[in-house]
Parts: sequence; C-alpha cells; structure tokens
Amino acid sequence: MRDYLTIDLAGKTVERETWTGEQLARAGRYYIAKTMVERGLAKIDPFSPENPLIFSVGPFAGSNMSNANRISIGCKSPLTGGIKEANAGGTFGFALGQAELCGLTLENASDDWTVIYITKEGDVSFHDASPYMGKGVIESAALLHDEFGEKVSLAICGPVGEYQGLMAGISMSDPEGRPVRIAARGGVGAVMGAKKVKALVCDKNKMPTYHDRRGVMKAVKEYGAKLKEDAAVQNLGAKGTALVADVMNSMGGLPVRNFSGGQLVDSTKERMRMGGDFIREQNMERGGTPTHACMPGCMIKCSNIYADKDGNEMVSPLEYETIGLLGTNCGLEDPDHVAKLNMTANDLGVDTIELGATLALLMEKGVAEFGDVPFMEAALEDIRVGNERGKMLSDGAARVGEKLGMTRVPVIKKQAISAYDPRVIEVTGISMMSTAQGADHTTGNLPTHDCDGKSTEELVGESMTVQMLCAAADSVGLCLFGRSVTNINHDLVVGAINDAIGTELPNTFLKELGVETLALEEKFNDDAGFNAEDDELPEFFYKENLAPSDKTARHHANEVRAHRADWMANAAVEFGLTQSGADRLY
Ligand code: SF4
Repeated sequence: MRDYLTIDLAGKTVERETWTGEQLARAGRYYIAKTMVERGLAKIDPFSPENPLIFSVGPFAGSNMSNANRISIGCKSPLTGGIKEANAGGTFGFALGQAELCGLTLENASDDWTVIYITKEGDVSFHDASPYMGKGVIESAALLHDEFGEKVSLAICGPVGEYQGLMAGISMSDPEGRPVRIAARGGVGAVMGAKKVKALVCDKNKMPTYHDRRGVMKAVKEYGAKLKEDAAVQNLGAKGTALVADVMNSMGGLPVRNFSGGQLVDSTKERMRMGGDFIREQNMERGGTPTHACMPGCMIKCSNIYADKDGNEMVSPLEYETIGLLGTNCGLEDPDHVAKLNMTANDLGVDTIELGATLALLMEKGVAEFGDVPFMEAALEDIRVGNERGKMLSDGAARVGEKLGMTRVPVIKKQAISAYDPRVIEVTGISMMSTAQGADHTTGNLPTHDCDGKSTEELVGESMTVQMLCAAADSVGLCLFGRSVTNINHDLVVGAINDAIGTELPNTFLKELGVETLALEEKFNDDAGFNAEDDELPEFFYKENLAPSDKTARHHANEVRAHRADWMANAAVEFGLTQSGADRLY
C-alpha cells in the first residue's frame, strides 16, 4: 500500500489517494503513457497548465534492491510534441518510496515560484522559492540543504528550466548529495519551469513496509548474487559507461564532428583518450573514483567521480553519451575538456546530448572550429544567463538547425540522436526512429548487435523485443544496466514484485506491461498527429557514406512502421490483448 499525491499548484491543495496491488506495479513509463492517453492530452500546448508533470516510482522504491530506485518523470514533451518519459537514478525516487509514496502529479501552475517540501510522513508544504531563483543547480542545492537539512533528496529546476529552454531537465540528488542525476530528455525541466516549481524536496527516512519483507530481502540477495556473477555487469562496473566509447570507436559508430565520421582514432594504432580504458586509468592515477553507485544499493556501480590532474573532483559522472555528443561530436579529444563542460551543463541542469548536438551545428556552420573549447564555454554562459543567443541555443538542435537553414541536423522528432550512428548501430537506430519518445537510445539499445546482411524486418523484430523489455524496466523503476540479468530472470523480478506489494502476477507480467506501454505511447503520438515522416532519419544519413565503414542508412520509416505494426499485432495475440495493448484499455 502506498499513497499517490495530486498537487494542484493553482490552489495549493493536495489530494491523497491510496494505491494497492497491481496498480503499484504499473508505474513509471506505463503510468505516464496511460494517464496522458486516458486524459486525452495529445493536442494540448505542453506549456499550458493542462500538461501534468508526473513523478512515478516503482514497487521497490525506498529499498536497497540493486538498481531498482529509478524515477520516471513524464508529460507531453515541449521538445518533441509527443509523449515523454525521462527517467533518472539518484535518491529522489528512493526518498519518495521511503515516505510510503508511489508518486505525485503536479497539476496546473503556481502563480509564484514555489518549493514543495514533502516530509517523511508524506505531508506537503509550499515555500517561497525566491532565494533560489536564477541560481545554478549546485548553489540551489546547497541553499536548499541549508533550509531543509541534509537528510533530504532534491529535484531541481535549473536556470534554463526557469526560462523554459527546451533542453532543460530535472536534476536530482545522488547518494552524497550532488544534484547531478538528471531526468534530462525532452524538456521535462522546461515544463517544471512553466509550472513555476523551482524544486521538490523530500525527506529520506527508512525502508518502507512491504507485503512480505522477508521475501523481498531474499530477492534482493538473489538478484545481487546474479549481478555479481554476470560478465556484462562486471565490465560495466569496472569501466563505467565510458567503455562504450571504445566499443563505438572500433565499430565506427561514434558520433564525430556532427556525425560526419564514425571513428575518432584508429585504435589499432593509437589509444583513444576519450574512451573508458584511458579515462579509468587516468582517473585512478589522479585519485578519482572509477566506480560509483548513483543510488543506494546499486551493485553495478556504472558511474564514476572524475578527478582533475591535482586530484580534485571535476564532475560526477562522466558518461558515454556526454563523451559522445558534447565531446567527440564537437571535435573534442581530451576528457578533461568534456568533464569541465559537463560540470557546467550539470549546473545548468540541461541534457548534454541535446547540448552537444546543438553546439556541433554551430561548428559545422563555421561559427567556430570543431574542438573550440572557449567557444563552447561562452555558449554555455549565454545559455546560463538566457540572453538572445542563449535562449535560441537552449531550444536544442532541431530549432537551431532550422534557424540556421541547415540540412545536416541529427534529430528524430525534433530530439537529438544519441551517440550511436544509425548507419552502423542499426537496431538502436531503428529503436530511435520508431519509439514515440523521439531519438532516445534507452528505449531499445543493442549497440553490438551484428546487423550485417540482416533485413529490416529481422532488425525491427530485434528492436521491438528490446523496446518491450526496456519499456517494462522503465515501468517498474529498474535501471536498464541490470538488463543482462533482469531480462532473463523475469520469475525472480516478478516474484519480488509480488512479495513487495502482495500481488500474484504471472511471469509474463513484465512483457505484457512493456507491450502495453509501447501501444499507449504510440496511441498518444498518433493522436498528436505524428506519422511516418516523423520517424524517418534525416536525409544525410541515407546519402552520406560514413567512414570508416562506408555505410549509409538502409532502413526507411514506412517499412519500419509496417514491421512494427506486425510485431505489435503478434505480441497482442501472445498476451491476449485484442488488437493492441491500447485496445484492451479502451
Ligand atoms: S547501473 Fe549505473 S545508472 Fe544504473 S542505477 Fe547503478 S549506478 Fe545508477
């Protein structure tokens, strides 16, 4: 049993509803899509008070189950115009769970900027936000801790979110209090800004009650043991996500200089300084921390704390997507440069994928050379103060590309493509094309899948299977990096859910939840007016050969859509849904 809070910002009132059973397992990305479809919000203005901002956590929130405390934040995206779920690690979902809450929705908009404080008993109060306005995320967090104490977790709207820049995310505390775990994509921070909510503050308490606590603890142990034995998890823990840069560089799928190349260095001849191997070694020599858990209990610890040459902390974490988009895609070759820019981006609370894609466009246009760090720092300063150029840049790659009259703009549904060139990393490319979320690798990433000689139909099948599993994980608060274990142990995960909330869900529950989530998201975007044209890759991916593989993109949206529809129809039959997951609900 958990409570869900509906917070009406206009009237400053709070409604509390008690949720039980399966309701608590149908959380996160599923709950966001279901709510947005049921309420018929596809055509609203994302910045209008009608756009709810939903914070939802899964059944393990507040526990020490490894990588099971992610929080999903969703609304209609002001960046894409479609459905949006951005999830993040950190401790805010953990704190909500410990307050015996399963989530909250911010409805309408406040007249004055406000900070919302949630006590460990789940009581809500509203506080004047003026001391925090215009301040960076780091300073805001320090001031919020001065006011509310150290034993709280924060979710902050940064200075860019305040002026509704579309690359603004929502920044949440990590276990040591760094406000750097960002629900980054799709402009959720801009929607928080439109609602005039500067921050949410939630007490941290103790593990919440569970239906069968002993059963949950047994599952925590068993899941932990499986993670410990898993080679993929061990690798991720040892080198962090930065290791993906080495892999993508050798496969030729790394974004380099606005996706004009797929490899930064020939790794048979030269060591790549922007890769996980080099970064880990240098970081350890400097006294940094190569493995770090972004949330309590995570045994994978894919994160890091990156130190400068004097051993001082520069940024935490330094992750692959940032290395790719804000680094190699902007022509950088030194991880120290990316780390410094990453820290500034964290202080602004913005999506480093969107930011990197945007700045690379200016470099391609000739406003600056690729690799010009002072130019990038000046652009970030403009974004911080929100001057004319800063506001223009803060709206992301699609709008900036359009304004500059450019054709090589790497976006799908107006959201920047993640650090996997779709000409080479084809399954991930198909996932980014076909997901309703806009170009987002986390919806269905299979970076090392061998795609050579495989048909569009085969690869769409691979993409849809992984999209289903990712949608399920995003709907119960599991971090995708545990997927090599969770995806093949649904009995263990569903058993733990049943023990946590007293349900008797079958082992097929997760797949069913994933399919229904995908169907609901598709319905929302259909209602919003999206069509096959919106799924197509930008033309240059089909026309320009990518070095060194010499590949061009070969999958077109119409064909991808047709195979996706077949896959969804088959899945609907498999799970006993009438036509699609959405039909069962309507
Ligand atoms: S695997 Fe990494 S991102 Fe996922 S919960 Fe653990 S530390 Fe956080």
